[in-house]
Amino acid sequence: MRLLAFVLLIPAAAQTPAPKPVMRYGVPVKAGPMDTVLLRDYDPESSLAAPITKLPKARVPVIDVHTHTSMNNIKTRADVDAWVRTMDEVGIDVSVVFTGATGAEFDRQADLYLKSHPSRFQVWTSLDTARIEEPGYGDRAAAELERCYRKGARGLGEITDKGWGLDGGPDRHKARGARLHADDPRLDPVWRKCAELKIPVNMHIADHPSCWRPLGPRQERGPDFQAFSLYEKDVPSYEELLGRREKLLARHPGTIFILCHLSNQGNDLAGLSGILDKYPNLYLDFSARDYELGRQPRAAAKFLSRYRNRLLFGTDMGRDAEMYRGWWRLMESDDDYLPGRTGWRLYGLALPVDLLRALYADNARRLLNWTRP
Ligand SMILES: [Zn+2]
Repeated sequence: MRLLAFVLLIPAAAQTPAPKPVMRYGVPVKAGPMDTVLLRDYDPESSLAAPITKLPKARVPVIDVHTHTSMNNIKTRADVDAWVRTMDEVGIDVSVVFTGATGAEFDRQADLYLKSHPSRFQVWTSLDTARIEEPGYGDRAAAELERCYRKGARGLGEITDKGWGLDGGPDRHKARGARLHADDPRLDPVWRKCAELKIPVNMHIADHPSCWRPLGPRQERGPDFQAFSLYEKDVPSYEELLGRREKLLARHPGTIFILCHLSNQGNDLAGLSGILDKYPNLYLDFSARDYELGRQPRAAAKFLSRYRNRLLFGTDMGRDAEMYRGWWRLMESDDDYLPGRTGWRLYGLALPVDLLRALYADNARRLLNWTRP
């Protein structure tokens, strides 16, 4: 399976006794050592002589609206302190932290971040999905949300439905039809409570469309992403999940939804524009979609400018200083041929400073609830 591209370049003709080289665009394609290179090992050294812009710090202060306690491996006060030092080095003013927790664990994390660095973090709570079949589920979940709000929560998320339901995953899920999806009426009290408390919801609906395509020679993203495959799994189609997204947005116009990762539709900016035009309560973060922006730099720069009041910067990629700096190079430089995580090459967007200000911080300042706990 991983021989992929290289094997395909050489059809079976290469193994017969007197192979006649296949001509492709005037080049004789012959068998050779490249044919057995595994796709996961393919790491070409570029000869391109092009500038590499070093940007140690973002041009203007940044609010990162998408980070996770778990992914960033934050356990102690010392971990939080170390993170803040990195944030200072790279120009992150505030990180919005998804605690992934409710109840006592949420309270512990709220104290961990807010007691030590109250001005550097915003903590968000998660959704209690226990006993969803029992009567009064939505009201119970909304009550816990409000309790977390009083304890410091200023948002709900990241709430994820890749098709298994908000309360499930590949290893633990209900039968199709019994799953809790975002547009389920049982969740109405939760979304209404968010509107009442003026806190946004960050949701991950569906996933990158390549997840629904076979793992093989035509798979778009490289081997590092194959663990995300949903191909032939017991999940609804990509299109069905995006349809549920629309039902949710239409059903709760007073609730602010930030759909993360460009709503998993960054491959189709025209389609995404249509959804943004239709639902004014929809906002997007572009965390973990560096590769969608960077592979189409001209279209992406236009899109970011056109929807400059609806888009928010986030990372969702850990907390290494060089990770943040990779983002600054993509957003701010006009460098060509940046290395990308999917195996694709990216191109700097060279965004003007007023647009950077809107995307990096102004939208988050306007949209997020900054009242003190
Ligand atoms: Zn995330």
